[in-house]
Amino acid sequence: MAKIIRSQRAKKSSVRSQPKPAAKQASAGPALKSKSASKSGRAPKKASKATALKGAKPLANKPWTDAEVREAFSRFRHANPEPKGELEHLNPFTLLVAVVLSAQATDAGVNRATRALFQIADTPQKMLALGEDSLRESIKTIGLYRTKAKNVIALSKKLIADFGGEVPRTRAEIESLPGAGRKTANVVLNMAFGEHTMAVDTHVFRVGNRTGLAPGKTPLEVELGLEKVIPAEFMLHAHHWLILHGRYTCLARAPRCGLCLISDLCRWPEKTA
Ligand code: SF4
Repeated sequence: MAKIIRSQRAKKSSVRSQPKPAAKQASAGPALKSKSASKSGRAPKKASKATALKGAKPLANKPWTDAEVREAFSRFRHANPEPKGELEHLNPFTLLVAVVLSAQATDAGVNRATRALFQIADTPQKMLALGEDSLRESIKTIGLYRTKAKNVIALSKKLIADFGGEVPRTRAEIESLPGAGRKTANVVLNMAFGEHTMAVDTHVFRVGNRTGLAPGKTPLEVELGLEKVIPAEFMLHAHHWLILHGRYTCLARAPRCGLCLISDLCRWPEKTA
């Protein structure tokens, strides 16, 4: 992942030399213009970026334009053309299991447990042959491992009974599996089958709201908002770009705005760059 951060930093100087839509948008901020004009009676001076950021409130509520969204995702793509998820897996089944195990756990923690597990149980049949007790032992370093072990065994049984041992390709069918919800279905559909789905985890939820790209009170609202604004050409990788952005740049407590590829577009009033 450090590679991705370095790559984003390296691209930043070239990205920032491009025309900046936000500079235009800041100078055109209606609140800034009318206030300045009414006091002096003269045409307002062009607002500097620093001035615009001080009065960030109007920007915070201003929806992104189509051109700004396209610009942001073009930058993500330029910095990281083929983003990858960090959950290790060998096939759709092991991806499904890894996602189910990742609820309230870190990808790194899940990977530590599944590396050995998937060597001996990479199909539903092998998972059942392994058995719940051994599975529990294999994943005991992951939070909620007892419940998760039960779910993995139950979903393996259901895959064999109802889907011929294969991971199904529809959201409803994946959501019918024990331990799998909407987010799991979206990750599997996107990563295993190339569908244009948007899985909203804590990082995507934060980035969607903070930037103003797709504000929403629930993950579903943010998911639908992102699907609405992101052009189709970016949707295959949009989920990973936003997750990686939230995980390594737009951190929850101390966002690294100074390293951010989209700082000039971001609507967050408290951004620091
Ligand atoms: S400018 Fe700061 S708050 Fe906005 S997206 Fe970038 S890192 Fe996040």
